[in-house]
Amino acid sequence: MSAHPLLMIPGPIEISDAVFAATHIRPASHLDPSFKASFAAALRGMRTVWQAGPHHQPFVVAGGGTLGMESVATNLVDPGHTVLVVNTGVFGDRMAEMLRRRGANVLQIGAEIGHDVPLESVRSALHDHHPHALFATHVDTSTGVRVDAQALAALCRETDTLSVFDGICATAAETFAQEDWGADVLLTASQKAIGLPPGLALWMASPRAMDARRALDCPPPMSLDWLQWLPVLQAYEHETNAYFSTPPTTLIPALEVALGELVAEGMPAVFARHEAAATRMQAAFAAMGLTSLSTAPARTLSALLWPKGASADALPAIKAAGVIVAGGLHPARKTAYFRVGHMGAVTRDPTALRRTIEAIGTGLAAVGGQVDLAAALEAFDAR
Ligand code: PMP
Repeated sequence: MSAHPLLMIPGPIEISDAVFAATHIRPASHLDPSFKASFAAALRGMRTVWQAGPHHQPFVVAGGGTLGMESVATNLVDPGHTVLVVNTGVFGDRMAEMLRRRGANVLQIGAEIGHDVPLESVRSALHDHHPHALFATHVDTSTGVRVDAQALAALCRETDTLSVFDGICATAAETFAQEDWGADVLLTASQKAIGLPPGLALWMASPRAMDARRALDCPPPMSLDWLQWLPVLQAYEHETNAYFSTPPTTLIPALEVALGELVAEGMPAVFARHEAAATRMQAAFAAMGLTSLSTAPARTLSALLWPKGASADALPAIKAAGVIVAGGLHPARKTAYFRVGHMGAVTRDPTALRRTIEAIGTGLAAVGGQVDLAAALEAFDAR
């Protein structure tokens, strides 16, 4: 993983050598026995990674995370339903807009940029308005804010509200136990901590969420409809023939490998690995003199204010030092910060993480940023 610039944006990310190799296959028939076996193994792997039992339903559909968000929004919510969006950044805005387009009455609880939403406000909104569903972004990639998904799911159970989590920048890195926590949907995309190239939307629906789809008055668009996909996914899990829309026959075998790596490691170890990497990276950033935009920092990425003397001009200098990081994303503060992803395969490789700290320090210093790279490396090595 050292010959090319390291891809340290918050997705897409570096993938493991085994997953990379698995994407280099000739496209098979979607009815080929080996493809069906891969699909079945991938769906079983999802149940382990999501921590959801046999009554939950995994979905894997070709498309981006945004397609997954739209599928969930349109399968759970009818026009006229009241829904609550816990909004911690750009992806909360996106979810709210999708729900408005669906004709829902959208209530939102937001926070200052970089802050989490107080749980008490959520509890009051649930009790006062009895929304049909709550939508939250586990980690908002635009702000680096992580919400307390377990507490939000528990509040929803108290009021019999469906709970939906956008885990696109969190799933398979931030602790989440869908069935134990009573969360109804956890959705993600392939290009983040799952560890694949972009191209798949993945989500797991609880029995309650499946019932909510069946109870809709206004069916979702056909290509997003869970009831169109359900027989196909059930057939693949049993390695039998099914067809609704041609599945991505190279990405699914790679998904089997990526999920297989996570299952072999075990989810507690996967979550601990991300926590350890985040602790190390965030200690190094603080020692370098960088301030976090987020007051509730995620383990998957760091959103960091540009230090005195530096701006987005530093991005090419950081790339010249061998590492690609991302600029700001939230429109209100876009030029004030940059973002570094630390999820997936790189978190198994301390050398790659150290190289990231070095390249950021070198690039920032090259454009006149006031940073202390030696202190950052010392902090990194001390952990
Ligand atoms: N939600 C979150 C939290 C994300 O990070 C992203 C992607 N950055 C999306 C939604 C949208 O996913 P995609 O770009 O795959 O459509």
